[in-house]
Amino acid sequence: MENNKTWTKEEILNIYNKPLMELIFDAAQVHRLHHDPLKIQVSKLISIKTGGCPEDCGYCPQAARYHTNIEKNDLMPLNEVLAKAEAAKNTGSSRVCMGAAWRNVQDGKDFDQVIEMVKGLSAMNMEVCCTLGMVTENQATRLAEAGLHYYNHNIDTSEEYYKEVISTRGFNDRIKTLENVRKSSLKVCSGGIIGMGETVNDRIGMLMGLLKLSEAPESIPINALVPVEGTPMEEQEIVPIWDVVRMIATTRIVFPKSTVRLSAGRMQMSKEGQALCFMAGASSIFAGDKLLTTPNPGDNEDMQLFNLLGLTPTEKMKDETKVKIRKDNLPLIADEKIKWSRPGHSIEKNLKAAEKAKTIRKTAKENN
Ligand code: SF4
Repeated sequence: MENNKTWTKEEILNIYNKPLMELIFDAAQVHRLHHDPLKIQVSKLISIKTGGCPEDCGYCPQAARYHTNIEKNDLMPLNEVLAKAEAAKNTGSSRVCMGAAWRNVQDGKDFDQVIEMVKGLSAMNMEVCCTLGMVTENQATRLAEAGLHYYNHNIDTSEEYYKEVISTRGFNDRIKTLENVRKSSLKVCSGGIIGMGETVNDRIGMLMGLLKLSEAPESIPINALVPVEGTPMEEQEIVPIWDVVRMIATTRIVFPKSTVRLSAGRMQMSKEGQALCFMAGASSIFAGDKLLTTPNPGDNEDMQLFNLLGLTPTEKMKDETKVKIRKDNLPLIADEKIKWSRPGHSIEKNLKAAEKAKTIRKTAKENN
């Protein structure tokens, strides 16, 4: 995905530090230019191999060297992965992300099994993403040929702060994998985590790191740290929701076409806080009561929130949902099939209301 504008760190910092109401308003406007503001992609994250990772990411309970309470598991059987994905699809997910706690992908039996998983999920007409650690260009190409759409590899934070978080690999190793992924036909999913003790400068540095890639990532997850007992970050304070909103809004403005994903940490956020994140340009959440190893709101809770806010899950993410902007600056969604949804209203009632709104607008135009 092209980077349309060259940003300086100061420009991005100025955006991040704007009065919050201005920032949210600006981000919401950018969001409406490229995305349908009423659609949220619901994604299911399946941990296909849990724990025992040789890396030392300071936030991660899956690192073998930390004493955490997670249940370790070998690679999940294919039928189990497909069954979980099927169940997720039936509750509104259109995307599956498979995560394996590996340092890097190694060719062999396990990788062959992952390839079969990708083929199976892709045949279910779901968007498929994997996060398996470092990959070579050949491995990325094999995944793409099996039907994978996205590869996730987060840069986590700024290049400067990276060594405070992880010592077993460097920031440039991350970039190398992202470039390997980019050379295949896969789309790139890469973002970061806030609340790890980093400064605002580091948050902006993370965005600068993404801007330095040859192309902007099509997908950018923003995670709020979930401090887990036994990890070096267990004592970190929960990051304020206002910081999460600022980070999402800034990411939305700097990467207008990318999907910005409100990822880990939603259990720490109020419904109102999450609503502000959607307003500021987040258009994806992870569903299910567990996100790899940390707690996450249940499906019912999310659907209640969607109903309350008038949001609906994306059936299948389009690359760039076109949204026309009317002369009076109100968004007019190009896809006429999109259902207007208001809490407490049936779809029929919403459609009727939409028809009525059209008539009122037409009359107003004629009277002008
Ligand atoms: S984040 Fe990934 S690479 Fe780092 S310790 Fe956890 S599983 Fe391993």
